[in-house]
Amino acid sequence: MNTAVAHDSPSAVARATLYVVATPIGNLADFTLRARGILQSVDTVAAEDTRVTRRLLEHYGIRARLISLHEHNEQRAADEVLQLLAGGAAVALVSDAGTPGIADPGARLAARAHAAGYTVCPVPGASAAIAAVSASGFLSPHFLFYGFLPARAAARREALAALATLPYTLVFYEAPHRVAACVDDLIAALGEARRVLIARELTKLFEQTHRCTLAQAAAWLAADKHREKGEFVLVVQGAPLDASATADVDKTLNALLAQLPLKQAVALAVEITGGNRNALYERALALKKR
Ligand code: SAM
Repeated sequence: MNTAVAHDSPSAVARATLYVVATPIGNLADFTLRARGILQSVDTVAAEDTRVTRRLLEHYGIRARLISLHEHNEQRAADEVLQLLAGGAAVALVSDAGTPGIADPGARLAARAHAAGYTVCPVPGASAAIAAVSASGFLSPHFLFYGFLPARAAARREALAALATLPYTLVFYEAPHRVAACVDDLIAALGEARRVLIARELTKLFEQTHRCTLAQAAAWLAADKHREKGEFVLVVQGAPLDASATADVDKTLNALLAQLPLKQAVALAVEITGGNRNALYERALALKKR
């Protein structure tokens, strides 16, 4: 469905529209004017934890009708939101902090609202992942947002093994009690030389952004017990593209691209080099543009 959005006022809301609204991840000054206006104006706010959202809204004198939508009731709560939308209501979705749908509930509701033909309007603001990547200084133009790794060690190692050769910056969320173990697993899967940005307590009083190698990260965390407290994003440099291997891959891809359409050339290059399909596709595209 095409979206007609009112841009004239920060608080103007359209009827029968679901607003996906970002809230601060710590610093309340990151609560945008538009987000506050929308939350003030909608008929209902679906919140991950109504107590958390009520506190935030009360701080700004915003009165809103709140309903609960969390991981364990999302389908049932989505039924209710769809009924409200069917009656022409404007509804906002918020999570406890940051952007809904990003390692937070919201995707199911958004999917159902789309499927039912309603407008789903993002109201952007803070997200820990984007904040951390923006400060990471890694040069790769691509990043892969992974979110939380599995809690169980075996599943976690398996997940990391699948990421080890990707030439993309990797972004993980991690709980404080697992952050040291996570760094150990990253070292085991990716090697100790990769660089990492530890983004801790972003936008809060004890914010730290520390960039070092994975080996140094383990030592940095161990050096001060306070460093294993709070909320963390780990941004890890992608797999290095070995220069001589890159030259070989380019040679193979160039030869194949001269004879074949892109897709077939990439498929053959995967067979010949054993390389990662996505990485070879990206490289083939770049070579073709040249
Ligand atoms: N939807 C949120 C967002 O857009 O960032 C993320 C919600 S997820 C349930 C919570 C995780 O995000 C935390 O465990 C932590 O990994 C990360 N996170 C949230 N706030 C953070 C902050 N202020 N500093 C660092 N990481 C944070």
